[in-house]
Amino acid sequence: MLKKHKSDAKTVLNRLGRLSAFLKDLDAHASTGDSFNFPLEIIQKTMMFDVSVLYKVSNVIENRLILEVVKILDPEHLRTDLKEGGKLILFLDDPDKIHVNEITAFLNKRISYINVPGIGCDIIGYVYLPESFGGAYLFGGDFCGKESLIKDYEVAGVEIMCNFLSTILLKTKFEHQAEYDKLTGLFNSGRIKLKLETIFKRFERKPGSSACIAMGDIDFFKKVNDTYGHIKGDLILKKVGQALSTSMRGVFDMAGRYGGEEFLLIFDEACEKNAFQAVERLRKNIEAIKFEKTDKTGKIPGNEFFNVTMSFGISQLCKDSGIKTATDWIIRADKALYESKQNGRNQTTVYKGE
Ligand code: GH3
Ligand code: MG
Ligand code: MG
Repeated sequence: MLKKHKSDAKTVLNRLGRLSAFLKDLDAHASTGDSFNFPLEIIQKTMMFDVSVLYKVSNVIENRLILEVVKILDPEHLRTDLKEGGKLILFLDDPDKIHVNEITAFLNKRISYINVPGIGCDIIGYVYLPESFGGAYLFGGDFCGKESLIKDYEVAGVEIMCNFLSTILLKTKFEHQAEYDKLTGLFNSGRIKLKLETIFKRFERKPGSSACIAMGDIDFFKKVNDTYGHIKGDLILKKVGQALSTSMRGVFDMAGRYGGEEFLLIFDEACEKNAFQAVERLRKNIEAIKFEKTDKTGKIPGNEFFNVTMSFGISQLCKDSGIKTATDWIIRADKALYESKQNGRNQTTVYKGE
């Protein structure tokens, strides 16, 4: 528990100013780890507001409000009644004495607090997020001091803080959506093309460097969908995406979903030989993944498995490659991929000219 700091309207306003300033340079931290850790840390530091519990509004069924306990920041173990990941079921029409604040905050969609002279203040903030972004959150905490009662300017401070928090979270989530493919978790085609353009522009300034790209495409994927259903097809795309991002660490720089079942890998500062070896290792890893057979309705007929294969085409950008534009670079990788398909699929071809 933090110590109660000097708190007057001016101090609270200054703290809000500091919190607002954080919004401007959020990008560097935005997509790392749990999206809530960082905003809660900012609140603690800038506002001197001690957040103790964070709930996600999980559902409302008839007269019951179901809250999911996302986080407990409770160093003094005062909230032994709550467990992270657990659910709290509250009756909206019969508020019990302990959670009346949670219910009021939820119903009014704004901060709710109770001042208890001689004991302190119980505050629940309401953080609005649209349903498609995970819905609302509630958080409990206080202005660092059990004995002090909340003042009107502190109430206003928490209200603004809640709006800041939803802005921070929306910004983080929008940024993530703008860059990542939802199904595979890899970079989306816009982001991967942007990276490729950046490398190409750098190459134009420094033609001595070398970089490779690999275009990969799942073999006979239409047949996989037709045989096992689209849900299985989606699962395969997801697993392939995972295999690509696991292999990415330290081997290549970036993997993205280029189109439906097509993936683009970027190997910056790499020669053809290294890119080829890495892609071949990856191709074999993907071939080794076992998928359970299902019929089109998703039923599993028995303990039977199948695998999918991928074909790749590599193209190197270097001084003598003759590549004039970023599009040329991709076209070459595509041509090499086409050759892999023509030669029987499940293989990697390096572009060697017309
Ligand atoms: P090839 O070996 O020549 O690449 O054959 P193919 O069947 O994989 O090639 P084709 O381009 O004819 O078919 C690609 C298929 O990928 C068709 C489409 O239904 C499927 N596909 C594309 N995006 C998705 C997706 O998001 N989910 C699922 N389940 N299937 C997808
Ligand atoms: Mg294709
Ligand atoms: Mg294909």
